[in-house]
Amino acid sequence: MNEYDHYQTYCRSLGDCIHFSYCRAAGGEQPCGRILECWAGRLPVVEFLKKHYTPEVLERVFAPQPGRLQRIMDIAEKVAGSGSRVAAPPSIE
Ligand code: SF4
Repeated sequence: MNEYDHYQTYCRSLGDCIHFSYCRAAGGEQPCGRILECWAGRLPVVEFLKKHYTPEVLERVFAPQPGRLQRIMDIAEKVAGSGSRVAAPPSIE
């Protein structure tokens, strides 16, 4: 699994140069969700992923992420479900 670990690239997420070893395990046991866009064309990354990760892991990593509006709606639903209330702003007199 470590055959490409010495390759380096600039990571837009971290703002620094990193090794492929980080990209293949950025989420602990699973690769970074951007590994295809960052490494395709430089390494046989598709073959690497198929060889070292289960289809379930790859499906989880590359599942479409919820959009910003959906995340806000999810948070709003959680807050509404918890019974929390947002404090009213102070009145200006
Ligand atoms: S695959 Fe992820 S961790 Fe690696 S360079 Fe791209 S964004 Fe950074």
